[in-house]
Amino acid sequence: MAAMAHTHAHNHANTPCSPQDAEAFLAEAEELVSAKGQKLTPIRRKVLHLLLNSEEPAKAYDLLANLDGEGAAKPPTVYRALDFLQEMGLAHKIESLNAYVACGHAKHDHSAVFLICQTCGGAEELHAIETSAALSKETSGAGFTIENAVIEARGVCRKCTA
Ligand SMILES: [Zn+2]
Ligand SMILES: [Zn+2]
Ligand SMILES: [Zn+2]
Repeated sequence: MAAMAHTHAHNHANTPCSPQDAEAFLAEAEELVSAKGQKLTPIRRKVLHLLLNSEEPAKAYDLLANLDGEGAAKPPTVYRALDFLQEMGLAHKIESLNAYVACGHAKHDHSAVFLICQTCGGAEELHAIETSAALSKETSGAGFTIENAVIEARGVCRKCTA
């Protein structure tokens, strides 16, 4: 399915395992959040929606600029919403870009491995289930408990290579 991600204009490169339709994605997110006893408040939902619609990893200030007066949207509000989405597994932060993306793999365990294209600025998330297992094994062997790991690989994507 992931290979199909670029054939439709409205597909989201980072959400191959989740509904491609934003409304369906948000409905699933809502379920996932309430299953964890939390709430997808209007501001959290709006931030997630903006992440879904963003072609490139989104910076916090871009999100803020696009919230168009939603509530009293101030930087701390946006950061709190982003923290919440990360805790819920619905978004990741790409540190090297200081930007955020929606995650389409929130329903299953995975390591967030990002392929960051230096030509187009896109970031594709891989499942990397084996990487996740290997990383957990090595880190628990070192007596370390991982809460969150994001692997960032930089290079040129297949679109830009073609
Ligand atoms: Zn993810
Ligand atoms: Zn997945
Ligand atoms: Zn590219």
